[in-house]
Amino acid sequence: MEPRETPNAARDFLERTGIDPTLNRILVWSAVASAKGPVTAAEVHAEATREHRLNRVTVYRILDLLAERGAVNRINAGERALRYCVGDGHSHFHCTNCGEVRCIANETLHFDESAVANALGLTISHIDLHLEGVCPKCSRALG
Ligand SMILES: [Zn+2]
Ligand SMILES: [Zn+2]
Repeated sequence: MEPRETPNAARDFLERTGIDPTLNRILVWSAVASAKGPVTAAEVHAEATREHRLNRVTVYRILDLLAERGAVNRINAGERALRYCVGDGHSHFHCTNCGEVRCIANETLHFDESAVANALGLTISHIDLHLEGVCPKCSRALG
């Protein structure tokens, strides 16, 4: 992939986040951003490598950097399994049976941000609630 062919959206986003948009970082961020849901580092590696040869350690390091700078969300899905997604204003559900993690729009949770902020004297800038339980597919399978 030539640099001129890299998606401008990814480059612009990384620049706005204060991250030097190298080709490898653009590829890793784009792999997370184009996924249907939160993905593992191994899945990001598989996707990013389709375009350009990248070793696994490089992908892991870039994911760490992107997560630390807030360019991706890092979700702890139990048993040391981390998943990554992009976007603000949403929370996560983790199925403890199959390990699936999905993004949930905060509006659907009806979380009363101002009540919590007032009760605890907090200034809240970002909400990512961690929900755990069993997904519909597993619910049906478990009867
Ligand atoms: Zn499940
Ligand atoms: Zn998410």
